[in-house]
Amino acid sequence: MRIEVDLEKCTGCGICKEECPKGAKIWNVGKKAMVTNLRYCHVCTICASKCPEEAIRVIRDEPPEENEEKDL
Ligand code: SF4
Ligand code: SF4
Repeated sequence: MRIEVDLEKCTGCGICKEECPKGAKIWNVGKKAMVTNLRYCHVCTICASKCPEEAIRVIRDEPPEENEEKDL
């Protein structure tokens, strides 16, 4: 998975870091928010839902699906 921060939208308010259960380990917020260590992320998406600017996208990796086309 990965987390994308839209740097155009991010104001550096730090809410993502405050609200994230592992904020101190994952987030580094200066002028803009940066994800520094996703190892601790458990994909709860709190950061994305709390960001007032809607600048965060949490992108889950889809498991590769064996999508065999069935007869239509
Ligand atoms: S909550 Fe959103 S706007 Fe605030 S620092 Fe985090 S990403 Fe930036
Ligand atoms: S998804 Fe959850 S654990 Fe991961 S960075 Fe966002 S708030 Fe933190």
